[in-house]
Amino acid sequence: MTTRNACLERDAQDPLAPLRAQFDLPEGVIYLDGNSLGARPRAALPRAQQVIAREWGHDLIRSWNTAGWFDLPKRLGNRLAPLIGARDGEVVVTDTTSVNLFKALAAAVQMQAGQPQRRVIITERSNFPTDIYMAEGLSRWLERGYRLHLIDDVAELAGAINQETAVVMLTHVNYRTGYQHDMRATSALAHAAGALIIWDLAHSAGAVPVDLHADGADLAVGCTYKYLNGGPGAPAFIWVPERHQAQFQQPLSGWWGHAAPFAMAPAFAPAEGIARALCGTQPIVSLALVECGLDIYDQTSMAALRAKSLALTDLFIALVEQRCAAHPLGLVTPREHARRGSQVSFTHPHGYAVMAALIARGVIGDYREPAIMRFGFTPLYTSFTDVWDAVDILCDILDKQAYDIHARRDAVT
Ligand SMILES: *Cc1c(COP(=O)(O)O)cnc(C)c1O
Repeated sequence: MTTRNACLERDAQDPLAPLRAQFDLPEGVIYLDGNSLGARPRAALPRAQQVIAREWGHDLIRSWNTAGWFDLPKRLGNRLAPLIGARDGEVVVTDTTSVNLFKALAAAVQMQAGQPQRRVIITERSNFPTDIYMAEGLSRWLERGYRLHLIDDVAELAGAINQETAVVMLTHVNYRTGYQHDMRATSALAHAAGALIIWDLAHSAGAVPVDLHADGADLAVGCTYKYLNGGPGAPAFIWVPERHQAQFQQPLSGWWGHAAPFAMAPAFAPAEGIARALCGTQPIVSLALVECGLDIYDQTSMAALRAKSLALTDLFIALVEQRCAAHPLGLVTPREHARRGSQVSFTHPHGYAVMAALIARGVIGDYREPAIMRFGFTPLYTSFTDVWDAVDILCDILDKQAYDIHARRDAVT
C-alpha cells in the first residue's frame, strides 16, 4: 500500500506539478469538481480587468475591431481545435452546449433529408438530460414523424442503428459514470448503417485525448467551463469539419452566421465555413476569459495530461478500495483505462450526505442522482497528495459516520 510520503514524492517528480501555480485555488480546499466547474486561472482576473476597463471602458465600440472581439469565436475555436483533433476553421466558441447541440442535430437531420425514411435520433437514456431534452424538443418541433430512441446499454447500439436512423448522438464520456465510448468503433457503426454521428465532448475536451477526424466523427459540441477552465457559464463550442461545412444548415440563422453581417441584407445567406454555426452577438467578457484556460493547455500536451489523469484516478480507486473497504461503496467508473474519463464515481447509500460532509471539510466533489458521489480529477492542478488527503478525509467521515442523512439539498448539487 502506498503512503502519504510516497504521494509527496510522486508530486515532486511530476512534470505537470508547476502548472498548479497558474490557478488560484483557496487554501484548505481539495478541488475535485473541475469536471463541473473548472478552477480559476490566475490570468482570468487581470484579463477581465483589461476587457472591462480598457477594451470596453476606454476603447468602447472600437474594440469590436481593435481588440478582436468580432473574431473571438473563431480565434478561440482555432486554439481549442488541437485539443480535440480538429483543424483550423472548424471550431467556434459560442452559445451554450445545449444550443450548439440543437444546431448540430438540426443540421444533421437536414443533411439526411434526401433519405426521408431516416427519422430516428438515437441517444442513451443515461446521457446528460439536456442532450436528451434538446433532441426531444427538436423531434417535436420537426413533427413529420421524427422520434427519439433511447438505448439503455451501449451493447444495444449495434442493434439499434439501422436504415431508419438519421443521427446517433452520444456523449463521449458519461457525466455520471465516467464511462468513455470507443469513438472510432461507434462512429464506424453509425456510418456502416448510413447514419451520422454527433459527439458531445462536455466531459472530454481538455480531459482525455480526442481525435475527431481520425475517429470519424461528423459533428461535435462541448463545454469550456468544465475541464477547460473557461469560467462559470463560459460559451461552449461546436465543431463542423470542413467536409460537412457546405451542407451544414442550422436553423438559428442569426446575423453572426450571415455571409456579410454588416451588409444588413434583408435575406439570410450563410457565411462560408464555420462562421455559419454562429447566431448572435457573443458575451465578450465571458468569452475572453476562455483564452486564459486555453493558454495553460499550450504549456503541456494531452498525452501528458492523460497519463497523469489515469495515474490520479487509479490511485484514488485503489486507496478508496483499500482504506474504505468496510463501507458500502460501489465503483461505477470503468477500471479499464480506455473506457475511463477523468473522473471516478462511487455509489453510497447516503451519497448526498457523505458528499455534503466532504465538502464541509474542504474536499469538493459533487453528487448526482442516484446515490453517486462524483470526483473529478484535473491533472493541471490536482496532486497525488490531494488524492491521498481526500481519501483520508472520506475514510474518516465514513468510519465515524460523520454525515447527516437528513442534510437539506441545495438547488445545485
Ligand atoms: C455539462 C454538460 C452540458 C451543459 O450544457 P449547457 O447548455 O452548457 O448547460 C451538456 N451536455 C453534457 C453532456 C454535459 O456534461
